[in-house]
Amino acid sequence: MNDLQRLKTALDLREWVEMDLGPALARGGDARLWKCPFHREQRGCSLAVWADGWRCFGACQEGGDIFDWLQKYRGLTFIEAVGVLGGTLPIASRQIRQSRFVPVDAQPPEEAWQQIAGQIAARAETILWSRQGKSARTYLQGRGLKEETIIRARLGLIPGRAEQWWRIQGLTVPSGITLPWWVGKELWAVKVRRAAGLPKYLQITGGSAHGLYNAARLEGHEAVLLVEGEFDALLAEQECGGLVGVATLGSAGRTLNPRWLPLLVGCKTILICLDKDEAGRKGAARLQAFTRRARIVELPFGKDLTEFVIQGGSVSQWLNDVL
Ligand SMILES: [Zn+2]
Repeated sequence: MNDLQRLKTALDLREWVEMDLGPALARGGDARLWKCPFHREQRGCSLAVWADGWRCFGACQEGGDIFDWLQKYRGLTFIEAVGVLGGTLPIASRQIRQSRFVPVDAQPPEEAWQQIAGQIAARAETILWSRQGKSARTYLQGRGLKEETIIRARLGLIPGRAEQWWRIQGLTVPSGITLPWWVGKELWAVKVRRAAGLPKYLQITGGSAHGLYNAARLEGHEAVLLVEGEFDALLAEQECGGLVGVATLGSAGRTLNPRWLPLLVGCKTILICLDKDEAGRKGAARLQAFTRRARIVELPFGKDLTEFVIQGGSVSQWLNDVL
């Protein structure tokens, strides 16, 4: 077996597609089924994904292995796709450790992508604060976010029907509320919260799956809180009274890339608070395995941080109790 074959057999493509498209909408035998993003499928679930390959049985008939998936969906080059897989492989696998695929520091997407995606995100920001963005702003305020938090996070709006996609300068852009993953001047990804449809969260194609949301704001904090999603992170930071730095990987299924470890070196305590469901518990255990300073903490009530705050919980009081 060569390195690439070994790499492929060591992982389950279904989990990778789930990171990009959210939970599968149906199952058929060993396959999980999704709406095919490549022909913007509206009805039906023509994208079938197995542990080792994928295929669209609908209009576009696209298919391939995990490398094809990463190249086509995330817009990576083959070399980048190999790097991405090497960077997140389960380190426990002896086979892999012997190969040349050791965990690598992730890099932000290439400059050209950052420029185009950055322009799209900036335009979306303007739209959010126009009359067109009124209901999106109401939605965000309903999640407990204050105006200054929304502005600081540079959230935006791509207008359109709930499940609509746009093609802008070569990128596929879902409509919905944009959450840009800025780390200083680097744009790692632009997630999009759609108004309806599953998965709820998508991203502009070509973004990295290895960023750390809010990473630039961790500096100088002795304690860091890792939560499951971007909105939770924004709300936690808004409500924590400066007690902790807050960041998120954006979903329970993602692992922390070694690239971000230096940011956490200076902090004495890492609190992990993911959603109270199976994915959240697994994700929290995986994060905790990184360092002994990490501690899994539970909210007194609510399934996630947003629900906790909406139901009257005080983030700063809770943090004072657990710290
Ligand atoms: Zn298709």
